[in-house]
Amino acid sequence: MKRAVYPGSFDPVTKGHLDIMERAAAVADELVVGVLNNNKKTPLFSVEERVNMIKDVTSHIPNVRVEAFSGLSVDFCKKCGASFLVRGLRAVTDFEYELQMAQTNRSLDRGVDTLFFTTELRYAYISSTIVKEVASYGGDISGFVPPQIAEHVYAKIGTVKGSKSF
Ligand code: ADP
Repeated sequence: MKRAVYPGSFDPVTKGHLDIMERAAAVADELVVGVLNNNKKTPLFSVEERVNMIKDVTSHIPNVRVEAFSGLSVDFCKKCGASFLVRGLRAVTDFEYELQMAQTNRSLDRGVDTLFFTTELRYAYISSTIVKEVASYGGDISGFVPPQIAEHVYAKIGTVKGSKSF
């Protein structure tokens, strides 16, 4: 059983994340999406909300499981019985940090390797931060996140598509 963990904040999950989940689930027997409960960051959505949103948009992928976790990704891998960590690489700007994290994780646990997926070009510029920024000005985020996620984001931020809050 090749089990992989895809850890992240997913605040909120984007079409770029979803693309990585679909592709990683195609090569792993089981993909566990680990939603980080990080008390150093103040997220827009609670960890439960993020878990439920990801469950909703991954319901068409049978071998995906979604769980919240806190602490080290390698410890979460061990708990899940996973031997791979999945990460996405958007651009060279991601590379330095991701390389450092992968090497750190490998030195923490030799039983865990990191698998990188390169982003689909059409999603390469998308980040959760950009989604929140555009939505806060009532901009159109339908190209960045699935429709049900867009609704949650506008509702949480208190804007509607097409509104301008100056
Ligand atoms: P973190 O706080 O761990 O960086 P994110 O939710 O921002 O959490 O990202 C989780 C993972 O998904 C990271 O590996 C990141 O590089 C990747 N990722 C983020 N946005 C995209 C995207 N648009 N396309 C592909 N991968 C992405």
